[in-house]
Amino acid sequence: MAGEPGEAMAHSAFDTILVLDFGSQYTHLITRRLRELNVFSEMLPCTQKLSELKFTPKGIILSGGPYSVYEEGSPHVDPAIFDLNVPILGICYGMQELAYRLNPDNVIAGTHREYGHAMLKARSIDNHVDRLFEGIEESMRVWMSHGDKLAKLPEGFHTVATSDNSEYAAIGHASKPIYGLQFHPEVTHTQNGTALLKNFAVGICGCKQEWTMQKFLEEAVAQIRHTVGEKGQVLAAVSGGVDSTVAAKLMKEAIGSRFWAVLVNNGVMRLNECEQVQKDLSEALGINLTVVDASQRFLDGLKGIDDPEKKRKFIGGKFIDIFEEEAVKIEEAAAHDPTKAGKIEFFMQGTLYPDVIESLSFKGPSATIKTHHNVGGLPARMANGQGLKLIEPLRSLYKDEVRALGRALGIREELVMRHPFPGPGIAVRILGEVTPEKVEIARQADHIFISEIRKAGIYDQISQAYAAVDPSRAVGVMGDKRVYGYIIVLRAVTTTDYMTAEAFNFPWDFLQRVMNRIVNEVHGVCRVVYDVTSKPPGTIELE
Ligand code: GLN
Repeated sequence: MAGEPGEAMAHSAFDTILVLDFGSQYTHLITRRLRELNVFSEMLPCTQKLSELKFTPKGIILSGGPYSVYEEGSPHVDPAIFDLNVPILGICYGMQELAYRLNPDNVIAGTHREYGHAMLKARSIDNHVDRLFEGIEESMRVWMSHGDKLAKLPEGFHTVATSDNSEYAAIGHASKPIYGLQFHPEVTHTQNGTALLKNFAVGICGCKQEWTMQKFLEEAVAQIRHTVGEKGQVLAAVSGGVDSTVAAKLMKEAIGSRFWAVLVNNGVMRLNECEQVQKDLSEALGINLTVVDASQRFLDGLKGIDDPEKKRKFIGGKFIDIFEEEAVKIEEAAAHDPTKAGKIEFFMQGTLYPDVIESLSFKGPSATIKTHHNVGGLPARMANGQGLKLIEPLRSLYKDEVRALGRALGIREELVMRHPFPGPGIAVRILGEVTPEKVEIARQADHIFISEIRKAGIYDQISQAYAAVDPSRAVGVMGDKRVYGYIIVLRAVTTTDYMTAEAFNFPWDFLQRVMNRIVNEVHGVCRVVYDVTSKPPGTIELE
């Protein structure tokens, strides 16, 4: 079944806090904070039927959300939550939901919205504060964002912290481990928010803080061996990017050369990239890699296409054709290789947790939940679980966890820290038609730009950087001769989530140096410009 191995592995091997998402923009931060505390956490939509859970969480957190619990059509948690006998923490909407469940009259619309900072003070009961606030007895600044409030304390609860505006800023059940917070402990604006989540997850739920990439590695290897079996074989497409490299190395650790990686040279990779990936994966990491040089077929097919969407579609489609051709060859070879023996049954993808979150997050009462696959458009038999079964070993990891896993696997730092690179490669970094001449120019210019960035020691401060070719020509004078050449657009951005981004602030002399090298060393270029557009309105790539 799609994705099960990775998922099942983490929550069956690590103490898990389940976060049920009611649609808050902050929900994913709850899982992030817990993982930073080395506690594994996983998110599911608030509509999850608890009897269908494939694991028993050590505790459950109900997130915030944009709705009002008392409105018709608002999402509600499975009432079975109270029968699970595990600690529960409701945050904002989550707290209102708990209160509403106990008695609908408990929640009302407030007279004004409260948005921003508030000062919170834990309340002493019988001379000590609740264990949720242990170690953080002082008053603390918290972040509030709500319009509704509790009208009264739900039966059986008492107040464990108050703020100036919220009499019920934090509540707890008198005898059961059930809590509610009106503020958001997961956002960095809340002081000691992480300490509070730790008190809940570790102190109250009793989670062991064992979520480390070293431990994950051991568990993942065991799980992959278990899933694939003694003889099973696995096929994958790799790109040289962080995710596919880490996933490939993990597979190699688990099943050796019964894992087959395929790299398709699509003719729009960066300078020397194909050779470098071959060195890294095959020589340094010992991965069983097949490189298919299809560059000519791609470049021929790209002739005359200047529409960005058509370019992307063509590259994606051609990639599938070529990968499928190669897969058939490998499957035949694998079936006849006595050292390997089994048939290829699995197809591996380097899907990460943010993609999973994206498909699981609660999008409102009427929204249908879409599924997401990171390699757009794979051959149907590889993505639908009918022919080849899907295996996604990184499915429970965030990007920085993938990087940490890469380090644990001994992958060199430069590769582990590599910027993302789009699937259609530099084809989307050449505005308009892709020609071999422009590919060469883009490669040379990009190589100079990235080498200078590395030399300046600022590569890791930048999230993504590249040089693109604008094929409109500009006039220049070189060696007293009038020249008419392409324009190179440099782009470098910083971002944490790739949803919004800012142009990187280079020192002026750095840009001058790059400009100088490009116009001097790259034939056919006479201008260099730096793109300062933020996202939005711009995108990170040009096309
Ligand atoms: N919609 C609810 C309110 O306004 C909950 C808000 C939240 O969870 N941040 O009170």
